[in-house]
Amino acid sequence: MKMVPSTWTSSIINCSKGLLPALLIALLPNIISSQESDFPSADAAAEATANIDTLISVLEINGNSLLVRLGSDAITAINTEKGLVVIDAGISTGLSLRYKTIIERYFPGKAVKFVINTHAHPDHYGGNAAFSDATVIGQENGPGEIDSHWKDTTRVIRRIQGIIKEYELLMQNYEENSADWNQAFMEKLRYQYALEDTKGPGFIRKPSLTFADSLRLDLEDMVIEMKHFGICHSKSDLLIYVPELKLLFTGDLFFKYGRPSINYEQNRDKAQWLSAVQWIQARTSDIETIIGGHGELLSKEDLTRFTQLIIEE
Ligand SMILES: [Zn+2]
Repeated sequence: MKMVPSTWTSSIINCSKGLLPALLIALLPNIISSQESDFPSADAAAEATANIDTLISVLEINGNSLLVRLGSDAITAINTEKGLVVIDAGISTGLSLRYKTIIERYFPGKAVKFVINTHAHPDHYGGNAAFSDATVIGQENGPGEIDSHWKDTTRVIRRIQGIIKEYELLMQNYEENSADWNQAFMEKLRYQYALEDTKGPGFIRKPSLTFADSLRLDLEDMVIEMKHFGICHSKSDLLIYVPELKLLFTGDLFFKYGRPSINYEQNRDKAQWLSAVQWIQARTSDIETIIGGHGELLSKEDLTRFTQLIIEE
């Protein structure tokens, strides 16, 4: 069994495994491997930042939506009459500013108006501050979850440092530039950026538009429907459905093969889960694309398996 470092969501999803450009491999570890020190020089930092863009993969879901990924970071931009809507914000402000630039280049003249967090885990809201002009939307338990996560900042920072170390050790097991090495490198990079955030003020941006059970966001040419799943993977899990694009976002509620991600065994919110399952079932025939919380494209079979497993719980 492979050793896999723990993350805040306790799972690592294998996303894109593109090869790193040789220049970047030569350059980046020297520049960003030290979690304690700042970038050594402005020139080197600028060069490294430019090269980070080559690690970011961009997938056009359809003409009106774009999935941007780096390792387990995944954010989707949806183009609407009322502006761009971003689903999830990644783990850090620094990387999400890069994603934002890519998105705004793809949809010229459009600005991000809303960010919706699928749930209040740091790898999903950590980049909210990159979208400073947007309204952040989330389930009403989210702000409290964020407060309790950051209650002991020193402990959180130590945990991030530990995860970076684990990825460094993991990378030593792999041949440099192999797919596994690249994957570990990208995950390490994400946590290094998250650590950078903690050195400055204002990096935590909580949802300001919240709701208890459901919300329908009217964007003129399309609507975005949100439904709270109940306490499950987090206390603030949302299902997000865009009927005009036949697109469903499931956050981290389940992974491949419909495997539910249940973190609150003692507090099963069964009635709410069943209400959410009914909500999904009413829409299943109209769903064409399902995007998981780390950019994985899930199948309708995964969704059906998940709802069955929840009913059987
Ligand atoms: Zn999560």
